[in-house]
Amino acid sequence: MLKKIFKFSIPLYILFLFIINVSAYEFVDPKNESEVNDKISEIYDAKEQYEDLAGHKEEEEVEIKTGTSTSYWWPIGSVDTVENGGKVYATGDPEAISITSDYGSRVDPITGIASTHSGVDISGGRGLGKVNVIAAKDGIVVYPTKNVSNNCVSGGSTSCGSGYGNYVIIQHSNGTYTLYGHLYENSITVKAGDQVEQGQVIGKMGSSGYSTGAHLHFEVRVGNNSTSSTENPLNYISADNPREVSTNGGQLWEFLNSWEGGDSTKVGDSYRVLDIGDGERTVGHGVTLRWNSEKFQKYGIDVTKYGVGSTIPIDIVDNVERDIIEGLRSKLTKGLVENSITLEENQIEAVISWMYNKGTTTFSDSNFYGNYKKYGNTEQFRDNWFFYGMDYNSQFTTGWTRRRNAEWSLFHEGVYVFNR
Ligand SMILES: [Zn+2]
Repeated sequence: MLKKIFKFSIPLYILFLFIINVSAYEFVDPKNESEVNDKISEIYDAKEQYEDLAGHKEEEEVEIKTGTSTSYWWPIGSVDTVENGGKVYATGDPEAISITSDYGSRVDPITGIASTHSGVDISGGRGLGKVNVIAAKDGIVVYPTKNVSNNCVSGGSTSCGSGYGNYVIIQHSNGTYTLYGHLYENSITVKAGDQVEQGQVIGKMGSSGYSTGAHLHFEVRVGNNSTSSTENPLNYISADNPREVSTNGGQLWEFLNSWEGGDSTKVGDSYRVLDIGDGERTVGHGVTLRWNSEKFQKYGIDVTKYGVGSTIPIDIVDNVERDIIEGLRSKLTKGLVENSITLEENQIEAVISWMYNKGTTTFSDSNFYGNYKKYGNTEQFRDNWFFYGMDYNSQFTTGWTRRRNAEWSLFHEGVYVFNR
């Protein structure tokens, strides 16, 4: 009962804080478009954060886009991670890429006797308990089961976990299995039955079980989950192909709309006009009627005649959205040229998403160009990305921080994280 009250009352309390916060922008000059845009941004954010905190969006699925690739990723991820839908992804450049022991015949590192090695050993990075081990491919975890404690100690008993120490086995839909051995004690974050996504962090590199130092023992089993069914993992993975990275862009529409929502407001061939607070009307994927009246006019729509609950044809709303995006793209492209900055297409898409969400006024105020010139595509620049006083390490996983994280992932790594 206490738990129930807590769950219910916290979001209301936070909504109250947001209302106070929004109200602080009371003296808005209606003729000043930038001031009003800021106000609208506040309302959008407050609404989005409230909905998330109130749990209205908990059922949403999150998809990591893997493009057309069905290949296996290098099983070590980047230092940087992206949290999404309760799962942590490390999809950037892998921290460790050295193979210290090949598959097949080798001299046993402990006994010195010739033996067969059932996988490859990968080492490097920051050592015990720090390097992110990721799922090489989507799949279902088959090990560890619930009753396995994962407390084999690095440098402890060599027979712990049958020599594998703490380990994970994932079954993939193509009939293969991947095994990740010698993981750091209590670092495993998945269990049998879990659906894991390619690039998802499943544990940390350790040295538990039959191991002489920090490394990942990685196996590929083909056909069945048996030690006698291993194949050379290097036929499947490569350090040069750690993850799907698109620098071509071209998925902005899908990316943007996954974060803006609006598809649920479809009524036949139209979108329903919504009230997002303060009488502000929006339609489709977050298109505000008032500020886009001229764009709608171009397609024969007089927005003053479309009240909350009325409908506007999808093709018209989509055309207006495209026009908005193209406007943002022109503004950004001009700014990049003026500042002698070259961005990849995926980075341009990330910035457009940000501008679409926050408004172009806020965008220029944040001194994007100056900070980019100062910090480039680095973690320091990430702070600029998360301007606006939002603590991205906040334990609250709001829609807002999730969106900024997804944009940052797109900007920094070229990985599209969709919100569904
Ligand atoms: Zn090994």
